[in-house]
Amino acid sequence: MAADAAIFYDIINIGGVSMKKMATFFEEKDGGVVCKLCPHNCFLKDGEIGICKVRYNQNGILYTKNYGDISSIAMDPIEKKPLYHFKPGTEILSVGTWGCNFRCGFCQNWEISQEKPSVKMVTPQQLVDIALSRNSKGIAYTYSEPIVWYEFVLDTSRIAHKKGLYNVLVTNGFIEIEPLKLLLQNIDAMNIDLKGFNNEFYKKECLGDYRKVLEVIEYAYNAGVHVEVTTLIIPGKNDNEEELLKEFEALSKISKDIPLHLSRYFPAYKYVIPPTPLDKLKKLYVLAKEFLNFVYLGNIFEPEYETTFCPECHSQVIVRRGYDIDLVNLSKEGKCKICGREIVQI
Ligand code: SF4
Repeated sequence: MAADAAIFYDIINIGGVSMKKMATFFEEKDGGVVCKLCPHNCFLKDGEIGICKVRYNQNGILYTKNYGDISSIAMDPIEKKPLYHFKPGTEILSVGTWGCNFRCGFCQNWEISQEKPSVKMVTPQQLVDIALSRNSKGIAYTYSEPIVWYEFVLDTSRIAHKKGLYNVLVTNGFIEIEPLKLLLQNIDAMNIDLKGFNNEFYKKECLGDYRKVLEVIEYAYNAGVHVEVTTLIIPGKNDNEEELLKEFEALSKISKDIPLHLSRYFPAYKYVIPPTPLDKLKKLYVLAKEFLNFVYLGNIFEPEYETTFCPECHSQVIVRRGYDIDLVNLSKEGKCKICGREIVQI
């Protein structure tokens, strides 16, 4: 979670009560409603609330309760999302709300994903105006899960596009294809969390399903959205090499050019397991490179593992030292200056 005091000053006088808004995807069934937004497909009787804690049935209508609620806002380097192959070296206005359709015991943002924090309220137009006033070229919906902020992200992304801003989603990718299709009309880039290739882990620890997330990665990629994938490697939970090899292979079948971020886990929320050993991460880096052209290690801050190498001529193209970004051999068109191979979206 991040908060920028200066930007909070922009919205401090905007605040108000959370806005109730009718959900876009649901249907009536057996005296209740079925939410069609994410694969949980919660069946809710009158007065009941979904797994995400932000969608509820009131008199046969599904409503969302976090429309316009902002829990966190900051200008961030785009590399922090992480996106390494989309407008490198730029900053983006980043916002989050509260609520999540997962229950990960290792969540680093559990204060806003699993509980309701204090919030400020903005309209989509006000958020776009803040982005423009900060000279941000886009808006990232991040920190908490943007899928359960669906209607607000949909409305804001449409206005943002009309104003020439781009839209970025940082998400767990647990969404049904129909709402995804509508949302992607105004989404330019995504970082999707793929929490390994072990469904016992996915279901028990997160309430998810990797097959659904992989489907979303493939759909978004084929829809022309810039997609990067992050896997947090948790010792003894999702770090089995055979399973991860299957993940690397599955991603490579979609495209060998999908950047993969293998992130180091640190204890958070309910998890006290010690951090991921560095040698384990470095071994996985080598294995993943057998399948994918762009692999990075996150949360270890070693430039060698954050650097973009050209898959054709092996030159260093972008050297990163944390958020210090050096576009050493990147052309203005996003290609390798040495051999002309396409590397990033500018
Ligand atoms: S978005 Fe929320 S209410 Fe809808 S199916 Fe998913 S968890 Fe349930």
